[in-house]
Amino acid sequence: MNILVINCGSSSVKAEVINTLNKKRLLKMTAERVMDNASIRFSDEEYPLSCKENGHRAVLEQAFPLLVKKLNGTIIHGVGHRVVHGGDAFEQAVVINDDVEQIISSLNRLAPLHNPINLKGIRIARDFFKEIPHIAVFDTAFHNTLPKRAKTYALPDELCKKHKIRRYGFHGTSHDYVSQAAADHLQTDIRALRLITCHLGNGCSLAAVEYGRSIETSMGMTPLEGLVMGTRSGDIDAGILTYLAEQENMSADNIDHLLNKESGLKGISGTNDMRDIIAKASNENDDAARLALQVFTHRLRKYIGAYAAVMGGVDAIIFTGGIGENSPVVRHRTCQRLDFLGAIINEDKNSAITLSEDAPIQSFNMNHSRVQLLAIKTDEQYSIARQTADLVAEKNKVNTTPVIPIAVSARHMHITQETLEQLFGAGYQLTERNPLSQPNQFAANETVTIVGPKNKIERVRILGPVRPKNQIEISRTDEFYLGIDAPVRESGKTENSAGCKVIGPKGEINLKEGLICAWRHIHMTPQDAAIFGVADRDIVEVEVTEGSRSLTFGNVLIRVSPKYKLEMHIDTDEGNAAELGRSAQGVLLKTDGKASLTKKKLR
Ligand code: AMP
Repeated sequence: MNILVINCGSSSVKAEVINTLNKKRLLKMTAERVMDNASIRFSDEEYPLSCKENGHRAVLEQAFPLLVKKLNGTIIHGVGHRVVHGGDAFEQAVVINDDVEQIISSLNRLAPLHNPINLKGIRIARDFFKEIPHIAVFDTAFHNTLPKRAKTYALPDELCKKHKIRRYGFHGTSHDYVSQAAADHLQTDIRALRLITCHLGNGCSLAAVEYGRSIETSMGMTPLEGLVMGTRSGDIDAGILTYLAEQENMSADNIDHLLNKESGLKGISGTNDMRDIIAKASNENDDAARLALQVFTHRLRKYIGAYAAVMGGVDAIIFTGGIGENSPVVRHRTCQRLDFLGAIINEDKNSAITLSEDAPIQSFNMNHSRVQLLAIKTDEQYSIARQTADLVAEKNKVNTTPVIPIAVSARHMHITQETLEQLFGAGYQLTERNPLSQPNQFAANETVTIVGPKNKIERVRILGPVRPKNQIEISRTDEFYLGIDAPVRESGKTENSAGCKVIGPKGEINLKEGLICAWRHIHMTPQDAAIFGVADRDIVEVEVTEGSRSLTFGNVLIRVSPKYKLEMHIDTDEGNAAELGRSAQGVLLKTDGKASLTKKKLR
């Protein structure tokens, strides 16, 4: 499936279209400085904002049409949205509807900096991509397996219940992704492994993933708890807050700003960038930078020891995120003297690590180390795409019946305005007799006579609205009757097809081409295509499930467009042969190259 992943932040929006089967990135879009002087970037092309206002809506309403244009017809099967806080309400990814939006909105106070913006992105995207399922993937969801003893704060129970105060944990998509990647790399079932995953980026957290389930994690009710981070303090004595409130006359907002934006590495050393800290600590002998590095790695080691104790041992320790993936210094300082745990670092391997798309996992333990030490390139976007694809597939399975309504098309004509006027008089307009099942199509009151070398057929109905090309669709029997050999074609492909005379009440015309025997086909939306696992122009087989005879139609063409309604069209000969009634339905049997899969899925 092709999934559009949207990560909507306060000042930037990142979006990516990912094929979840082969992990291929089809398109990448970034919008920076969303609130002021915004610009939209696709790979190396930058677009300034074309309207005066800035803001998420203005930016995305320009970005989405560009994105669709650049996809050049590639279908998006689902949209995955990163949502930071799922609270108690969402223990896993969820298909978004109005109720889900409402609940996410009710969680705003748990993540005031993130959830409202995530929700804004969801609303704008749902307005634009109306027909596609949208999925919310929560940073907190992976940690829903935390046992009570790990998620409970030692605060009065009533207060915790009233305000939903508990430990939730974050970075779930990353911890989930790297723990599964580690299991795959070690060729061991994740249910047999005890892992410590260290996500060390601007935000930092650890998780203890015991037999596939997160049972401890260092972030809590908010992302503030735990490790030292770029600008967040991580664990501190809560008494400091009341002390500061009194001594410095600080408000709740002041304290929030201090702990989230001015603390951590930045608070200790003046910079939140680990690269600068490492450079300063070694080259300039900068005491503050050295201390920042020491406090950072000390806290990390402390947590690793604690998590090994919580799980009664550890099989692999995983480093990921900007720092975890790229800093041999941090990995070295964290992993030295962990022999007592069975983790023995190989310094040469550690300093040689360069992760890339082609080498996303590298180990850096000695051969005799019982504990595996791994650096893994995280891929949160792919993790969101994968969860979205799973849910889209699941939703399609549950909510959609795999039967296809079958309509028998009587002979008919699609007509241009010019031909209409030749046959019915200048300025003539089609009049609607009854609507057809395909949106905006109708059977007109007007009919024509078509004439072949042998015979003529009267009262051939015109279907509206008028089209850019004339096209007459008849059955094989009609062809024999008229004495014309018309090719079997898909609708719209009239080049070098047969011609005939057409007579109307006010004139006649000799069509050079336009007469075809319509190739039996199924109209469907991109969502239907995702359900059936087919793509535009695939050839499938359909077994008819109604009528007194069982019949399989081979060579059925799939036509996909957001404008279509699910329906198979056959001509009158085929309808008669199968003795189909008005409510006939078929099931998809197989597709080219996907036969057994589709057959299994649908029957
Ligand atoms: P992230 O939030 O995952 O993008 O990580 C951002 C953090 O990774 C910043 O603190 C960077 O300084 C840090 N980082 C990136 N590359 C390196 C590196 N080679 N050595 C140390 N830290 C790095």
